Formats: sequence, structure tokens, C-alpha cells
Amino acid sequence: MTYDMIIVGGGPAGATLARLAPRSWRILLLAGTGRDKPCGGLLAPDAQKALARFDLTLPKRILVDPQIFAVRTIDLAARRQRYYQRMYINVDRAKFDRWLLEMAPENVTVLPVRCAAVARQGEGFAAVWAGGQAAGARLVGADGASSLVRAALFGPAKTRRYTAIQQWFPLQAVDPFYSCVFDSVTSPCCSWSICKDDHFIFGGAFPQKNCRAAFEAQKERLEDYLGLSLGTPERTEACQVLRPSRPASFCMGGGGAYLVGEAAGLISPSSLEGISSAMNSARALAESLLDRRPLTAYRRRTAALRARLLAKNLKCPFMYEPHLRRLVLWSGLTSIAVDGER
Ligand SMILES: Cc1cc2nc3c(=O)[nH]c(=O)nc-3n(C[C@H](O)[C@H](O)[C@H](O)COP(=O)(O)OP(=O)(O)OC[C@H]3O[C@@H](n4cnc5c(N)ncnc54)[C@H](O)[C@@H]3O)c2cc1C
Repeated sequence: MTYDMIIVGGGPAGATLARLAPRSWRILLLAGTGRDKPCGGLLAPDAQKALARFDLTLPKRILVDPQIFAVRTIDLAARRQRYYQRMYINVDRAKFDRWLLEMAPENVTVLPVRCAAVARQGEGFAAVWAGGQAAGARLVGADGASSLVRAALFGPAKTRRYTAIQQWFPLQAVDPFYSCVFDSVTSPCCSWSICKDDHFIFGGAFPQKNCRAAFEAQKERLEDYLGLSLGTPERTEACQVLRPSRPASFCMGGGGAYLVGEAAGLISPSSLEGISSAMNSARALAESLLDRRPLTAYRRRTAALRARLLAKNLKCPFMYEPHLRRLVLWSGLTSIAVDGER
């Protein structure tokens, strides 16, 4: 049997597309093998707005403790910090993904398998996994930063690529707080800490070469700055993360194949926030699939999103260039005073 569409990847992009794609189509969703995606699991205002536009309300079981109202921004090299108000919702990322996937309608067959290869086959596509294969008239890569579909059909992503590493610690060593950490000595990108129920998570994005050594060095510098030990990690996880910087960083597809979410390169280069772009691009593709020229329609519907993401590069020097960042932190512009500041 040939499916009307095969979607590779069951994250926010793949699950949203499966939910919104034409109900008359037979759709196969290869959702991966359930390995949790390393993520801060924070729903930023843009992601909240996307859920609002879908008329979706978040079940309580997806939330984690605590909810946060401020981010403590720390420059380790300058040993300076400020607090900024932020409106995030703190969620269990794995539960969030499962919740989105549970909404797939009956015309979608969800298989918990990892796609091993894709290729063009006649007018359509073939997808192969351990123990099975399928043919589809259309193929969608919703398989994240290391997209197999993008690599197989369109070549490597033309964008900056980092390795994100996160460790989970028992909470007892640290009081809960949410932070964004910069350290020009160990990474040109950013790091973060966040609490989820009884765990403290510290993670960051690092250049791929020697990423683990840079992560460990930065962790030590953070412990020194905070004056405490994070303890022994219970879990270490890693994945790739993209940072688009120019129009060619994005690839929306071609020849009957499409890319959505981070597979298409759609993620904020300043905050690395990507859940909203994943859901919004999936919605844009779903609305374009029945168009006479679906790819043109999809490109048009995502033009503003791509422009917005590229515009965020203008903010980057003030966050990532050490001298400008010091100036911003020194000025205290838009920061808030916090009682009993640590
Ligand atoms: C460490 C880290 C922290 C982050 N924190 C935040 C945050 O707090 N808030 C935020 O908005 N964004 C955050 N992001 C970005 C965000 O996680 C991604 O941009 C977003 O998840 C992209 O959604 P997606 O559906 O496009 O891809 P993903 O969420 O990556 O989903 C891809 C899915 O495809 C599956 N898959 C991959 N390969 C295959 C295959 N071959 N076969 C089948 N399935 C496959 C994977 O298992 C996964 O389920 C963070 C990113 C990183 C790396």
C-alpha cells in the first residue's frame, strides 16, 4: 500500500502536522523509539500563542514544579549577573510530546520505529526501518536537528551546528532557580539551568569539537561562581542544535518532500527556542498541502517566520559578544531588582 504521506519524526512538528493534515489522506508517522529529546522544556510566549491558535489547553499532568517568573542571567567570565522577567511555562518535555502525538486522528498510523533510510522511488518515496518499509506519495522530515530526511534528500544543513549537553542532578544540592549562563571562555553559545520536580538540570550548547571537555570546564566554573557542588549527575544527554544565520540556513523541501521544525532549520538563533517554530511550520505545511503548488504555498506561509528568526540575529551580539554583553548587564536595562539577590 502507498501512503499519501510519510512523516519521519514525532516531535512537536511531526505530531502537529499529523493532527492538521487532510483527514482524507492515509498518513504514516514514524515516531522514533521514544528516546526523550534533550530540551529545557520551557514553553515561551510564542509557543503558548501557537497552542492558543490551535485552541488547545495544556493538561495539568504535563506541568512540572516549579513555575518561574524570572531568569537569572549569569556572565561567568565577567562574574556579573542580572534578573529578567520571563513568561515561560515549565513542562515535562517527553509528556508534552506524547500529549501532542495522542491527538493524531484515525487516518494516521503511528509506528514507534526509527527510520533508517529514505529515498526517492518512482514518483514518490520509500522509507525503511528495522523490520519494515513503506512507500509514500509525499515525504516529510520532522526529524529534528540531525534530520535524516534533510541529509538524504537535500544534503547537510548549511547552518551553524552545536552539540547540546544536559545533565540531571538530584535537587537537594541547589535551591530551584532558572538561569541563562554565558561564558566566553568555554563556549560562544549559551547554557541554562532549570528545575523539574526533584531534579536540577544544567545544560549548554558547545562547538562540536571537544564539546564534553568544554561542558565539564563550564560546569566547574559555574559551581565555583555559585559556591556549591551540583553533585553527581543521574543522567547525561546530548543532541545537536542548529543556529540559523542566513536564508540558506533554512530548507523547506523540494520535489514532493518537505521539512518542518528544526529539520528545516527553524529555531531561534538567540534563545534556541524552537517548539513554537516546530508547531507553526507544521501548521503552515498542513494548510499548504492541498494547494496547487504546495511547496510555493508552504514557503509563502513560512516567509514571515523565517524573517523573524533571522532578525533575531540582530539581538545576538548583545547576548553573545562579551563586551556588548558586559555593557548590557552593567546598564541593567530591562532587568528587575530581586529581593535578597543571591
Ligand atoms: C538542549 C536543548 C534545550 C532546548 N530547550 C528548549 C526550550 O526550553 N524551549 C523551546 O521552545 N525549545 C527548546 N529547544 C529547541 C527545541 O527542542 C527544538 O527546536 C524542537 O524540539 C524542535 O521540534 P521538532 O519537532 O522540529 O524536532 P524534535 O523535537 O527534535 O523532534 C524530532 C523527533 O523525531 C524523532 N526522530 C529523529 N530521527 C528520527 C528517525 N530517523 N526516525 C524516526 N524518528 C526520528 C526524534 O526522536 C524526535 O521525537 C532546545 C533544544 C535543545 C537541544
